[in-house]
Amino acid sequence: MAAVDPATAASTGEGPIRVAVIGAGPAGFYAAAALFKQDEVDVRVDMFNRLPTPYGLVREGVAPDHESIKAVTRVFDKTGNDPRFRFFGNVSIGDDLSVAELKRFYHMIVYAVGAQSDRRLGIEGEDLAGSHPATIFVGWYNGHPDFADLEFDLSHERAVVIGNGNVAVDVARILVRSVDELADTDMADHALAALRESSVREVIMLGRRGPAQAKFTSAELKEFGELPGVDVRVDAEQLVLDDASQALVDEERRVRRNLEILEGFASREPSGAPRTIELRFLASPAEIIGTDGRVEAVKVERNRLETGADGWQRATGTGQFEILECGLVLRSVGYRGVAVPGVPFDDKHGVIPNEQGRVTDRPGGATLPGEYAVGWIKRGPSGIIGTNKPDAVETVRHMLDDVRTLDRSSVSGDPEAIVRVLDERGLRYVTFDDWKQIDAEERARGEPRGRPRSKIVRVDEMLGVCGR
Ligand code: NAP
Repeated sequence: MAAVDPATAASTGEGPIRVAVIGAGPAGFYAAAALFKQDEVDVRVDMFNRLPTPYGLVREGVAPDHESIKAVTRVFDKTGNDPRFRFFGNVSIGDDLSVAELKRFYHMIVYAVGAQSDRRLGIEGEDLAGSHPATIFVGWYNGHPDFADLEFDLSHERAVVIGNGNVAVDVARILVRSVDELADTDMADHALAALRESSVREVIMLGRRGPAQAKFTSAELKEFGELPGVDVRVDAEQLVLDDASQALVDEERRVRRNLEILEGFASREPSGAPRTIELRFLASPAEIIGTDGRVEAVKVERNRLETGADGWQRATGTGQFEILECGLVLRSVGYRGVAVPGVPFDDKHGVIPNEQGRVTDRPGGATLPGEYAVGWIKRGPSGIIGTNKPDAVETVRHMLDDVRTLDRSSVSGDPEAIVRVLDERGLRYVTFDDWKQIDAEERARGEPRGRPRSKIVRVDEMLGVCGR
């Protein structure tokens, strides 16, 4: 445990600073790690998570065929095993316990709840059966308990993926990747079974802007070209750039590399592979068309780029339309934060208003003592897992600065007080040791089939495994 300067301890009152972290994704774990790494203030962290399982999008978002990315959980486990840390999984703040109640037990609260919803397109037909947010499809194939019972109609040959970010790339790849290759990953069993029966042969990915504005990263794009049994189609004419787009290519290595990869795809002769991914740029969905409430096609408008006074290149419709028949539409236009009851929310940006992690009562407003934000609910849904580390360090720096001015009089210093409340309410919370049992069970179930794990997708079954 970190040494504490007695002078500091005196100035901060009796006993350690008790911190509640809400959310067990990368941002929450990086915040807890940063709190433990410093030696200015003696800190205890209790982490609450709605699901029994920790790691957030590392478990429920990272694609199953990107196993190596999940190795970061070993870093989080170091925090999980720290004696100053407790995990309360299967406890939903806002439902099981209010933020106002938490304030009785914690000097500081860190919101690390991520972005739990998705952005809307705002077009007709968006909610037809067969049109889904990509985020839900991701949750489904990753065994998120909220989505385990969903069914996706994979009986049509063509699917359209809307968006040009890494989530769009993930779902497009999963739709065409051979199930034999996915079978040794930790993809949820129900998804493997459904994909085995899938008739999807062609995925068309629509980017509303040009190839230079696409948000996907080069390694993810390159992977399209390495998938056995998959041809990648790109029309070379779509790669002809205007001056502003060329400037992006010249400025940014990722954009330059993306264009090289796309040019490589455009120059390939189709091999006659059984499945295809096609990338189309400057193409916006204008309407999702269906009959009897089901998707049948996407009406796509051709765009051109216009550079605004702010230098941002926007897609503007040309009035030219095309109908793309398809049976499945995955809308991958970004995640969106959801308000935590009792906590200010900036609805325009889908974040908790904050200044470098200090929560404010409204955007640009006064800071709320003892309340902090990290990760996507702080800055919006951008960046990779590692981006959350410096983000958390920034917030923790402010927390440490604020300790001296903290009013500690109304907070119970008894670490067992919160446990008594959870017990009194009959909440079946999952500790970090409980999670280790779930983890061991999943690994044991996966091992005979050479899989990293076979995920348990029902909360009751998880609780049963750890005897809760
Ligand atoms: P994203 O990177 O923000 O991409 C969203 C895409 O949706 C953009 O292409 C955007 O186009 C498009 N879009 C937004 N509104 C639209 C509309 N009305 N019509 C058509 N297109 C629209 O979001 P994401 O893919 O959900 O990814 C979220 C974050 O997770 C990103 O930082 C991503 O890199 C990260 N992630 C990383 C990995 C990985 O490292 N392997 C995997 C998955 C996710 P505009 O650019 O024109 O706005």
